[in-house]
Amino acid sequence: MLFGRQSDVTGKGWFRKDRRPWRLSAKLLIASSIATVIGFSTICVSVMLDMRRGEEELARQTLENLAAGIDADISRNIELYDLSLRAVASNLVMPEIKGVSKEIQHLILFDHAATARHFGVIQVFDAQGQLTHDAASLDPAPEDRSDEEYFQVHRANPDVGLYMSRPMLRRSAYSIVLSRRINDTDGGFLGVVVGSIRFSYFHDLFGRLNLDPADTITVLRRDRTVIMRKPFDLDIIGKNLAERPKWNPANLKEGGSYAGIGPVDPTPRLYVRAGTTNQFFVVVGKPLASILHLWQREVVRIGAIMIVLILFVIGTTLFLAREIGRRAEAEDKLEELATTDALTGLKNRRKFDIEIDAEWRRAARNRTPVAVLMIDADHFKSYNDTFGHQAGDQVLVGIAICISDAVRRASDCAARYGGEEFAVLLPGLSAVEAFTVAETIRSKVEQWAEDPNVTTVSVGVASMTPTAAIEWPCLIEAADKALYAAKANGRNQSVVAAIPQLALVA
Ligand code: GH3
Ligand code: MG
Ligand code: MG
Repeated sequence: MLFGRQSDVTGKGWFRKDRRPWRLSAKLLIASSIATVIGFSTICVSVMLDMRRGEEELARQTLENLAAGIDADISRNIELYDLSLRAVASNLVMPEIKGVSKEIQHLILFDHAATARHFGVIQVFDAQGQLTHDAASLDPAPEDRSDEEYFQVHRANPDVGLYMSRPMLRRSAYSIVLSRRINDTDGGFLGVVVGSIRFSYFHDLFGRLNLDPADTITVLRRDRTVIMRKPFDLDIIGKNLAERPKWNPANLKEGGSYAGIGPVDPTPRLYVRAGTTNQFFVVVGKPLASILHLWQREVVRIGAIMIVLILFVIGTTLFLAREIGRRAEAEDKLEELATTDALTGLKNRRKFDIEIDAEWRRAARNRTPVAVLMIDADHFKSYNDTFGHQAGDQVLVGIAICISDAVRRASDCAARYGGEEFAVLLPGLSAVEAFTVAETIRSKVEQWAEDPNVTTVSVGVASMTPTAAIEWPCLIEAADKALYAAKANGRNQSVVAAIPQLALVA
């Protein structure tokens, strides 16, 4: 029974575990590691994002230059061709031209610029849409263009200027018709002068550029009708992209860029638009995947290194935190061993002295009493002699259990003071209250003992409120004296000490 209860004594939490500096240092270690990991990850992510922005910016600039170059080439060629159209339109209305022969008229109207490789022949149609002059022939076959869109546009509107048609099949080749209205001196409609640019021009121009297969170049009319596109696709040529569902034309403004899915195919690209004040504009696109290809490789590489480093830091931190914990637990155990009485599990005298010293100071500050019980087994020598030392030890353990059963507050301290002597520290208790505790202990021992004549305890009780003039050994001494008085009075009793005059009686 005694051994069964001994664990109660040791397991009652006599050691305060509230002060755990190791927990703080382990937490600090974990917190600083987490902060380091978060810090490095943030720096890494921001560097990666910067790199991405850099790649995109570089690609944007390259595409802008490409688009501007294409735009400039097309513009220059159209401008040259337009000069010829303008010359025809203005020369035709000169009064002098009417009096000269057909050959001379031909020479005056058509210069050599209009016969360049990718340009179609210049033709003149009268106000009824009938062919009157043809740069390729002095005597052209009759042609009627009155149904053509460009003819009707010019006839209806004198201010169109250079009109660029939708792509169309002319003389078995795709081309764009460029036309200008011919006005008489009063601004009346005299007909149209018409030329064309063959698609071979665009094929030739795009063929000279070093592009990836997934890159796109689109030449569009101002109303967003596709004039030409690389990769070449007849399904797209001539279509108006402004009418595409799921595509908002405001995405790509003049001189702007757009990253995402375009109106033609589902490949996400970076699109850049270059456009002058011409009748057309150019959009070049490069797949985002190819722009960010190198960046993505870097992200994977640096990300993998970061993950390894983070795992290493986490692993090291957990290992160190566990080691700190183990070490602290070992220190706790050592401290426990150093302050515990091995036989009874109560505190030892060394610990008791530390506790009473601390409580004495606290009581002095708070002006509260401190009580001490000195407990001694009666006639223990003869018990030992009769039943043996082993049995005597069991009795000491039993007394310890009785004491710790009666002393339950966290601030109380029960200790084995000497061989068969115990001391109990009761902070805040008056002599009367301490006497009650003493009696509880004494009667518990009495009840527990199989033979009340052989195992009883005598208790000396003392309580003092500390003053500057007295130290705690006075309190012990007073309790000791009370204990001797109890012995002298016949044992198995509690006696309250007569307090020295210097001390305040609690
Ligand atoms: P009193 O009532 O006056 O205190 O009589 P007592 O016999 O208890 O007093 P005394 O101081 O003469 O004897 C103390 C005895 O306690 C002596 C020793 O045999 C015994 N003792 C001291 N420490 C231990 C211990 O750890 N185990 C055991 N079994 N006995 C102990
Ligand atoms: Mg003794
Ligand atoms: Mg004794």
